[in-house]
Amino acid sequence: MRPGDPLRPAARNSGSLLVDHIGELVTNEGRPGDPLGIRRDAALLISDGEVAWVGPARDAPAADRRIDVGGAAVLPGFVDSHAHLVFAGDRAGEFAARMAGEPYTGGGIRTTVGSTRAAGDDDLRSTVRRLRDEMLRQGTTTVEIKSGYGLTVADEARSLRIAAEFSEDTTFLGAHVVPAEYADRPDDYVGLVCGPMLAAAAPYARWIDVFCERGAFDVDHARTVLACGQAAGLGVRVHANQLGPGPGVQLGVELGAASVDHCTHLTDADIDALASRRIDCMCAEGEHTVTVATLLPGAEFSTRSPYPDARRLLDAGVTVALATDCNPGSSYTSSMPFCIALAVREMRMTPAEAVWAATAGGAAALRRTDVGRLTPGARADLIVLDAPTHLHLAYRPGVPLIRQVLHNGVPR
Ligand SMILES: [Zn+2]
Repeated sequence: MRPGDPLRPAARNSGSLLVDHIGELVTNEGRPGDPLGIRRDAALLISDGEVAWVGPARDAPAADRRIDVGGAAVLPGFVDSHAHLVFAGDRAGEFAARMAGEPYTGGGIRTTVGSTRAAGDDDLRSTVRRLRDEMLRQGTTTVEIKSGYGLTVADEARSLRIAAEFSEDTTFLGAHVVPAEYADRPDDYVGLVCGPMLAAAAPYARWIDVFCERGAFDVDHARTVLACGQAAGLGVRVHANQLGPGPGVQLGVELGAASVDHCTHLTDADIDALASRRIDCMCAEGEHTVTVATLLPGAEFSTRSPYPDARRLLDAGVTVALATDCNPGSSYTSSMPFCIALAVREMRMTPAEAVWAATAGGAAALRRTDVGRLTPGARADLIVLDAPTHLHLAYRPGVPLIRQVLHNGVPR
């Protein structure tokens, strides 16, 4: 328990809690032909913050307390494996200009860097808390949080210290862009990132990430940064192939990254690389690709860009996750249901594939086995829909369908 973490209650409810009369329970227990592991007319028992039992409602055991969900659908809480929540200010004007026809280049990141450096700790903390609460109301019970708007030793360490108050999955993104004061000296900036900045950030981070893209970091710099992070004990994730084709995805696979994120512009060789490396997992599916392709359709929506080809990845056997990329520039949404609707309508994912990618897929992208599923031993993170089936998440876009959220077994 870290102080200030609104998602880790100091005391779990004692005793057992039965969630009863579930019309459709998505377990993600992954039977062949049914990756969502759907059970009908089900019940779920929670004890000590974990799922203790799942089965037919008629066989439900006695419990200290009971919630009757009246035939509604129950799903695992969403796992948002890509979000940039530590920042100050917004860029609504930049969005308006883009919608009026200006292209997105990523250059606006420096605007947010200036605002973030000027903000006080409490301002940054209250923004993270506001967005985290916004996510929770929309069913997200696990979120990864990146730094990347400080870009000095002190500001990156501060961003991660604050992020770690809210999430176990924190990511050092000192290599987001080269800040203006190093514009002519990118080698020197990479040296700073791998040296004192990494040393100051690593105690608060689980992951390292780099924006490997034209105009940000080239493949040699990206490899240097990721290798330094690995040597410091951090896991690897990469922002790759967002704005055009590039080496980021194959670099991620080469380094055994948990996830390569965006994947908007992929060659056949990129897809072959992703599909070629598989690992057995603790998950019900038995295996997934070593490197998950995390798709962020909020970014394509908000930059009016072509969406990634999810169908091509899925048909090649690549494990796919969906996440929000919540950030003030290119995707200022915190809504996983919105991303599910976009994935189904615009990226040719089935509703079942999109729901899996937003729950179990996100867990795979964070190499977590305790979340993203509702089977015995999992953390009791679940959402009750105001709907009879998960299909409504894409079928009724923009509608607030999250009736109730339980985190660690505690109603929020
Ligand atoms: Zn991002």
